Amino acid sequence: MAKRPRKVDQENGTEDAPNLSRGELVHVKLRDAIRAGRFAPGQRVRETEVAKWLDVSRTPVREAFRRLQADGLLVFEPWRGVVVAELDQQQMIELYAMRKVLEGTAAGLAARHAADSQIAMLEDLVEQTDAVTATDELAELNRHFHQSIYAAAHNRYLLKALNALRDSMALLPSTTYALSERQGPAQDEHREILAAIKSRDAAKAETTARKHIDGAERARLKVISQMSRKHKDTEL
Ligand SMILES: [Zn+2]
Repeated sequence: MAKRPRKVDQENGTEDAPNLSRGELVHVKLRDAIRAGRFAPGQRVRETEVAKWLDVSRTPVREAFRRLQADGLLVFEPWRGVVVAELDQQQMIELYAMRKVLEGTAAGLAARHAADSQIAMLEDLVEQTDAVTATDELAELNRHFHQSIYAAAHNRYLLKALNALRDSMALLPSTTYALSERQGPAQDEHREILAAIKSRDAAKAETTARKHIDGAERARLKVISQMSRKHKDTEL
């Protein structure tokens, strides 16, 4: 049990691992930067810039680029070079369909297996969210809330699948928290999921988590259509 949080950190690649090769280190740093939105979807990533940023030669950067291309986080565009991948609408719909299934399963398993300390952590995150209004902080707390549910599900294969989805989520433009009308309902839904996990009601936890992702998907579509409208306006 005591090992679990460390395991999650390793899966997330956020732990400082001294034994990484230079190429692996660049891979982890760059992947985390893409996940955190430091490099936006569609943005060009130059070898020389990354090498300078991380103070390494171009060889490990090239190695990291290859791995991130294999993971689908970076793509090579003939006339532009290496850019952060962008998801099209169909990919987004497929991604949310899987999220509904996996997040639902995770919440159901968390209702069965969460340690009391993990439930206390979820409560704490919901409380912290009440006190926050900035979009990026809300998005960060939201990520933390969901990752805590994944950890509480205690299933390493599910965790792996969810982490792979999270990498693809990073390729979506913006966050649903950019939509102010989504903030209240999202927090209410978190409370519902938490209540179901706390009362150890697996079926309810699963349906409320699915409903939450459903709401997130609708908000995401709205944010994207707003963004493309804005884009068109500035082009005119
Ligand atoms: Zn959420």
